[in-house]
Amino acid sequence: MPRLYDSRKRVLVTGGAGFLGSHLIDRLLEQGHDVLCVDNLFTGTKRNLEHHHGNPRFEFLRHDVTFPLYVEVDEIYNLACPASPIHYQHDPVQTTKTSVHGAINMLGLAKRLGCRILQASTSEVYGDPSIHPQQESYWGNVNPIGPRSCYDEGKRCAETLFFDYHRQHGLEIKVARIFNTYGPRMHPADGRVVSNFIIQALKGEGITLYGDGSQTRSFCYVDDLIGGLISLMESPDGFTGPVNLGNPTEFTMKELAQLIIAETSSSSPLVNRPLPQDDPKQRKPDITLAQKQLGWNPKIPLEEGLKPTTAYFRTNLSA
Ligand code: NAD
Ligand code: UDP
Ligand code: UDP
Repeated sequence: MPRLYDSRKRVLVTGGAGFLGSHLIDRLLEQGHDVLCVDNLFTGTKRNLEHHHGNPRFEFLRHDVTFPLYVEVDEIYNLACPASPIHYQHDPVQTTKTSVHGAINMLGLAKRLGCRILQASTSEVYGDPSIHPQQESYWGNVNPIGPRSCYDEGKRCAETLFFDYHRQHGLEIKVARIFNTYGPRMHPADGRVVSNFIIQALKGEGITLYGDGSQTRSFCYVDDLIGGLISLMESPDGFTGPVNLGNPTEFTMKELAQLIIAETSSSSPLVNRPLPQDDPKQRKPDITLAQKQLGWNPKIPLEEGLKPTTAYFRTNLSA
């Protein structure tokens, strides 16, 4: 339902040209808000937003969040950060800066404006978890000096900053721990498992199963995830999170490969590749808190969400 004019907000989305950010912007504009997208286009692309070209309620600003930003808005979603291992390991120092300096700048902005700010944190704060499924009370098992640390520790430090601004300056914060999410507009070259497998299946190439494919993940369709982020932003004042957002149905990577082969009617073979360092063996969110506090539940099963995702890559590969 479109919102009434009097509830229209000016919403800043950092990282808005990326996969999740662009879907979030679609939903916020649909709800009648004004949106300012701030993105340095490192992994995002203006193509993800070209359908809003000419919309007077949408603005794009090319800017790196590691530098200060002075704008006037009512609400901030902080999503800027490369999310896939290939991208965040490309320039690990910049990745940490984006999480840490980016958080400081956006928190400073929220403090000056007295507005709510939501952080897109990640299940990676749990590292290679020793408890399963992961609850928000679990402190995690993260290697501080490995190749994934720039992302994991950067995101952990950003959470620390959010909670210190909350305690020290009374800022209204919302922290979402996002688990693996998939859907149209995933970057085709980001090496994530869903996009890799779909592209390989569509091209008839070998499906690259890392390790023996017995490691698990749980995959949330992007539309469900965006609903969760917005419910969290709109949740009552006292609720800060961190709150897990993800789909708790768990699959092995081998099962995922088989589902994608079936969906694409592909004859691609499975080929084994070495397991990357520090690759978590299993991951599945406990979403009891999100269910209780936000009334949120993911609704779209993997089999269903793979259809529009596959259709997106089919179109893009032939474009
Ligand atoms: P993405 O790479 O598609 O989007 C990130 C966006 O941030 C891109 O548009 C990129 O250009 C921009 N960006 C990167 N560094 C920036 C900087 N210094 N200044 C301004 N913009 C910058 O990734 P995504 O999957 O859409 O992830 C969005 C957010 O959600 C990230 O913070 C990520 O850590 C988090 N997240 C995503 C997932 C997932 O499964 N996709 C899971 C957990 C957390
Ligand atoms: N900041 C910003 N926009 C603003 C206000 C602050 O980018 O509208 C940045 C500024 O660069 C500052 C950071 O946010 O370094 C943290 O701000 P805060 O007020 O918390 O700290 P201080 O300015 O005292 O260092
Ligand atoms: N993976 C795989 N083949 C690929 C890409 C990834 O088997 O071509 C595995 C990877 O080792 C990991 C899982 O799929 O166990 C999810 O990887 P992704 O990079 O998508 O996400 P993350 O490891 O950050 O959860």
